[in-house]
Amino acid sequence: MSVTQKSLSQQAIDLENKYGAHNYHPLPVVLSKGEGVYVWDVEGKKYYDFLSAYSAVNQGHCHPAIVNAMYEQAKTLSLTSRAFHNDMLGKYEKYASEYFGFDKLLPMNTGAEAVETALKICRRWAYEKKGIAENEAEIIVCENNFHGRTTTIISFSNDEVARANFGPYTQGFLKIEYDNLEALEHTLKSNENVAGFLVEPIQGEAGVYVPSEGYLKEAKALCEKHNVLFIADEVQTGIARTGRLLATCGNCTCENKNCSGVPEVKPDILILGKALSGGAYPVSAVLANDPVMNVITPGSHGSTFGGNPIAAAVAMAALDVVKDEQLAENAYTLGELFRAKMNEYIANSTICELVRGKGLLNAILINDSEESDTAWNICLKLRDNGLLAKPTHGNIIRFAPPLVMTENELLECVSIICNTLKEFEV
Ligand SMILES: *Cc1c(COP(=O)(O)O)cnc(C)c1O
Repeated sequence: MSVTQKSLSQQAIDLENKYGAHNYHPLPVVLSKGEGVYVWDVEGKKYYDFLSAYSAVNQGHCHPAIVNAMYEQAKTLSLTSRAFHNDMLGKYEKYASEYFGFDKLLPMNTGAEAVETALKICRRWAYEKKGIAENEAEIIVCENNFHGRTTTIISFSNDEVARANFGPYTQGFLKIEYDNLEALEHTLKSNENVAGFLVEPIQGEAGVYVPSEGYLKEAKALCEKHNVLFIADEVQTGIARTGRLLATCGNCTCENKNCSGVPEVKPDILILGKALSGGAYPVSAVLANDPVMNVITPGSHGSTFGGNPIAAAVAMAALDVVKDEQLAENAYTLGELFRAKMNEYIANSTICELVRGKGLLNAILINDSEESDTAWNICLKLRDNGLLAKPTHGNIIRFAPPLVMTENELLECVSIICNTLKEFEV
């Protein structure tokens, strides 16, 4: 190739750089095709996808059952808005409500919208059911949370890059340390205007922080004691990612073949997105029982695309795949294997300090500072070696492959990762 002739990848990257806003810093790879656990770049090189679009593609790329449901619905009826009924929405609402064990579902499109919806429901409930004085409601959130990118959500983030110069910020949030029950109890006791506690069952973006055993259960009990809604953001952890249908599902381990999805820690409000559509279409949802959801009345909330027939068809197909292909069980088994294999490597490693996670939501910690570019360079090498992953926060690399992976594929990926890490050992 002559110096004036750019590769297809470089051409695509240049176009994005020139015409797209610079709100991301992607790994330099340009993908043009996906199937199952694999993606291909524009030059035809094949990779294992170890990010799964931040756990949106749990069911694997371009799953035929999901694609087919989308295609069939797209050529029949795509959008009515909620000004009229459509014949798919009710079916989907019934299907998903029963699937997750709630009375009702409110359909939205993106994760951030679903989080916003949950916050609005929680505030309404505070004023209309709990009796908190107007505009006084507080919602407890955790440090290092990630709940999306809207102005309200970034108002209670402590990621300065995500917040800087986007003020003024929305009021009404109290921030406590994650995985700290004393902090939760203290905040509940010292504020009578607390309406809700918004929490990620595992903090994904923060670096796959798994809280202590029993944290969620105890936190839920404290919320109940203080008449506060427990709001679980399972946008990343939900839909079988952590080896269970939901990460809040304390009971339904995957040794339990009858895993019904009826959770031991049942959130008052459950937020889902990402893999709810298998990555085929933006579909998010908020689920709650009637005493909470009924605070939403006509005109008080909505979305033009929320609950559209394509989204309904796609989500039902995507949830069918999770059950039919036993993805929770597979994520559980492969996750145990992945951490065991990585721990064998880490025992004699100086570059990799630890592996942590649940199911197939895992991360490794690289033995270098957060400011170093070691993790980024490892990801570039992983790419060269046929596996795509990305650092979260400098020295942490998240590993979240599609859940349709086989054991042999996983073992091949472990050797790619370990061989790549070897190149960085000092
Ligand atoms: C990705 C994510 C969101 C936001 O979802 P978007 O679809 O990007 O708006 C919210 N919460 C969690 C835990 C997430 O991982």
